[in-house]
Amino acid sequence: MTVQPVGRMAHRTSTFRAWVLHLLRLAILAIVVLIISWKAELRSQQRQATPAKTPELLQVQPYLPDATAWGGVDSQTGIQSLINETGNIVGHAAWTSPIADDIVGFSGPTNVLIVFDNDLILLGLAILESQDTEDHVEAIRKDGRYRSWWKGLSWTEIANASNVDTVSGATLTSLAMAQSVVTRLGGKAPSLKFPEEFTAKDLEEVFPEAESFEPRSEERRSWIVFDKSGKHLGTVLSTSPSADNLVGYQGPTETLVALDPDGRVLRMAVRKSYDNLPYVDYLDEDWSWPELFAGLSLEQVAEYDLEAEGVEGVSGATMTSMAVAQGVIKMAQGSVAPQKQEPPSPRLWNVSSVPWGTVVVLTIGGLIGSTRLRGQKWVRIPFQLVLIGFVGFVQGDMLSQAMLVGWAQHGLPWKTSLHLILLMIVAVTWPTLSRRNLYCSHLCPHGALQQLLLPGSRRRRSLGKRANRGLSLIPNLLLIWVVIVAAGGLGVSLVSLEPFDAYLFRIAGWGTIMVFLVGIVASLFVPMAYCRYGCPTGALLELTRRHGRSDHLESLDAVRLLLLAVAVITAYST
Ligand code: SF4
Repeated sequence: MTVQPVGRMAHRTSTFRAWVLHLLRLAILAIVVLIISWKAELRSQQRQATPAKTPELLQVQPYLPDATAWGGVDSQTGIQSLINETGNIVGHAAWTSPIADDIVGFSGPTNVLIVFDNDLILLGLAILESQDTEDHVEAIRKDGRYRSWWKGLSWTEIANASNVDTVSGATLTSLAMAQSVVTRLGGKAPSLKFPEEFTAKDLEEVFPEAESFEPRSEERRSWIVFDKSGKHLGTVLSTSPSADNLVGYQGPTETLVALDPDGRVLRMAVRKSYDNLPYVDYLDEDWSWPELFAGLSLEQVAEYDLEAEGVEGVSGATMTSMAVAQGVIKMAQGSVAPQKQEPPSPRLWNVSSVPWGTVVVLTIGGLIGSTRLRGQKWVRIPFQLVLIGFVGFVQGDMLSQAMLVGWAQHGLPWKTSLHLILLMIVAVTWPTLSRRNLYCSHLCPHGALQQLLLPGSRRRRSLGKRANRGLSLIPNLLLIWVVIVAAGGLGVSLVSLEPFDAYLFRIAGWGTIMVFLVGIVASLFVPMAYCRYGCPTGALLELTRRHGRSDHLESLDAVRLLLLAVAVITAYST
C-alpha cells in the first residue's frame, strides 16, 4: 500500500475545500441573480394579471358628489352607473384599462377614469394609475388641465375627437391618455400622436419629383401622388396609426413609405418622431437605410423577418431604426389580407446578427491573456489600441451593470446579442477556472485605456492607506445599489453609473460622460483608478474569482452575503 506524503494529502484537502467554498460563493451570486429575475417576472405577471379594478368612489365623487355607491354595469358598453342614497342613478363611469392597455406613452399605458352625467355628457377625467414614466405622469397631474379635456362633450363627440390640449414636457403621455379615452369609447381617431395634415413638403423626402397629391383612403393615412403632367407616380403610406405604440429609445416615429405605381417600395423617410433627435438624425445620415425595403411589394414587407435578414439597424441608433423598420412591417401587415400574415419561424439563435469582428478581436484577447504573449509589449499595446478603437468606440461591446441587470430581468437576448452573452459567460467562468480575471485584464476596452495611461513615477500620486481602503469600498457599495435597484424594480437608470456608454459618445448621456472623464483623469495620476475605486462590474467579476486562499473565509465573503441579504430584503419589501 502506498503511503501518501502528509504535505500532498493536506494540499488535496485544501484544494477540495477551496472548490467547495468557491462553488458556495458562486451559488450565492446565482441566487442573487435568480431573485432579481424572479421579482421582475412577478412584477410583469402582476401587471398583466391585475384586472382593472373598480375605482374608489372617492375618485368619482369630485365629479359626482351625490354618488354613494356603484350601480349596475351596461353589458354592451361596460359602463358602470353610480347611485345616490335613495338608489337613483346620478351618473356613469368607465375606465380605459384593459381595453386601451396597448396604447403606451413613453414607457407604458395609463388607466384613465371617465365620468359622465346621466345624459352621457362628460364631467371629467382622472388618472387611476399609470405605468408610464413617473416624471411625465406627475407633470400631467400637476398641470391638471387633462381633467377638463372634452368636458361638456357627449360620448359620441369624444369618440370622434381628433385633438387635445397636451402638457408640454409630457406630450406623448398626454396624447396616449387621450387616445386611450377615445379608444375606450369606441372611437377611431386616426392618430392623436401624429395628427398633422399631409402637405407638399412631406413629399420632398419620398417623392421629390411629385407635384400634387390626393388622399387615397380615409381609414388609412395614404395619398396618391402625381407629377406636373398629372401622371400617377405612386402612393405614399404612413406608418401611423399602425406603429404609434412602437417605441424606439423614447417614443414612436411616423414613417412615410413611397410605393411605385406597381405597389413596390421605393424608399422610406421619417416624418415626425418623439424619439431622441440625435438618433433620428442618424437615420438620415445612413444612405442605405431609406431603401431597406426597396423593390418589395407590401405583401413581401408584411412577411419580412428583420432577424432572418440580418438587419441590425443603424449604428448608434439601433433601437430607433429597428422600431422604424418594425413600424413599416406592421403597417404593411395591416394593409394586406390576413391570410398572408405568417409569423416568423421561432429560432433560438441568430448567428447572422453576430458582429464577427468583435468575436475575432476578443478571441485574440483571450489568447494573449492566457498565454505568454501577455508579457510581450509589442503584442499587448497594438492589441489594446484595437480593443479600445474597435470594440470600444466602434462597436461599444462592453459588459456593464445596466446590461447585466437588463438580462437578469428580461432574459438573455440570444437572437440579437449572442456575442455579448458568450463574452459574459467567459468573463464570469474564467476567474473560477483559471484564477485570473481575463475580462478586466485583456478584454475590457476601458481597462485597456487605463493601462495605456498608466502614470510614470513622476506623475504617480500615492493615496494613503486609509484613503485607499475607504475608496476601495466604492465599487462594492455601487454593486449593493445595483442589487437594490434591480431587485426592487426601481425605475432608476444604471447606465450613468458606469463610463461604458461614453464610448458611443454620440448617444451618451452627461452622467456617463462625466464618470468617464473623472475616471480617466484620475487614472493619469493613480494607476487604474477607475477600475480600483469605481467599477461595480469589475467588483462583480472579482467576486467570481478563485484564488490561492479560497479555502478560507475572506472579506469578500461578507460582500457576497451582504448582496444576498440586500436582494432578499429588497425583494420582500417591494
Ligand atoms: S474594472 Fe471595470 S473598467 Fe476596469 S477593466 Fe474591469 S470592467 Fe473594465
